[in-house]
Amino acid sequence: MLPSFDYRPEYARYRDEVAEAVQRVLDSGWLILGPEVRAFEEEFAAFVGVSAAVGVNSGTDALWLAFKALGIGPGDDVLTVANAGVPPVAAIRAVGATPRFVDVDPRTLLMDPDRLERARTATTRCVVPVHLYGHPAPIGPIRDFTRRHGLFLVEDCAQAHGATWNGRPVGSFGDVGCFSFYPTKNLGAFGDGGMCVTGDADLAQKLEMLRFYGFRGDRHAHCEGLNSRLDELQAAILRVKLRHLSAATEERRAIAASYGSALAGADLVLPVEIEACRHVYHLFVVQSDARERLARALEAAGIGFGLHYPEPVHTMEAYRFLAQGEGALPVTERACRQVLSLPLYPGLEAGAVERVVAALKGA
Ligand SMILES: *Cc1c(COP(=O)(O)O)cnc(C)c1O
Repeated sequence: MLPSFDYRPEYARYRDEVAEAVQRVLDSGWLILGPEVRAFEEEFAAFVGVSAAVGVNSGTDALWLAFKALGIGPGDDVLTVANAGVPPVAAIRAVGATPRFVDVDPRTLLMDPDRLERARTATTRCVVPVHLYGHPAPIGPIRDFTRRHGLFLVEDCAQAHGATWNGRPVGSFGDVGCFSFYPTKNLGAFGDGGMCVTGDADLAQKLEMLRFYGFRGDRHAHCEGLNSRLDELQAAILRVKLRHLSAATEERRAIAASYGSALAGADLVLPVEIEACRHVYHLFVVQSDARERLARALEAAGIGFGLHYPEPVHTMEAYRFLAQGEGALPVTERACRQVLSLPLYPGLEAGAVERVVAALKGA
């Protein structure tokens, strides 16, 4: 069986470094929000090219903490996409705001900036583009829009560590950039983790307080916070993995290029890399009207695959009250029926691409 994702081949390359990091933490006597988290925050901020980073418990938490720090809440609405899974929507709802969905560009499946103006209402406060599959959303035009209307910009970078737009990393454009370190992500922990990045020192301090009961290095609640701490073990492991991230990204890009050339001419829509963008291929997503047939062929060949995502958020039971029902987002809805993610991860075994391509072509 060839899995669609497996962290172990990459881990095998530097397990000694991970073991050393784990030992260092366990021997230190400090397990939560300590020197490893602080060092990782500094290293990650430098990686994104911003002044501050605040480690939190997950990517979903990074998003809701960003909204909370920006003062977004009941009565406000937030423009985002419906084809990126539940997390951005759950985070918007967690602060009591209302998501409003913008359809996506059929070529990239990313937020279509030309549709923002029509989606905006008098109560719109914020835009949340998702750098889906590892490709930067069109952040230039989106940022022009948020500036023109005085809106906040929060980037969902959960799938795009190291992706760049005009040479500048995602996460550095918005008021806050939100990252996930869920194990399957390009920079994955061995458990849960997330990070908010920002160039605004006041916002960074607010985020630090919100992640830990409103404390400011004391035990006094200066504002109403919660507990969304990052632990020392994950931070120490992530520091090791951050050192290997650019090599891992190169490898992802090389695997994507192999799929791209082997599948050229096949009856499939292949992912694109828009000019001046650097795609980090969190996922290699093809689109086909015949997805069911292709999926069955992969299954029969013992090849794993993913569907990211099979259902748009606006038609899910929990979110029907938003009254943006079926038919509201035609490109998003079609994409959800057609997307198919092929196996792609650092250390993917030799011959895997050929096996996948042969199974797809056979179908
Ligand atoms: C994974 C993911 C998240 C949430 O991250 P968690 O760490 O799992 O909470 C948010 N947005 C997108 C697009 C994701 O892929």
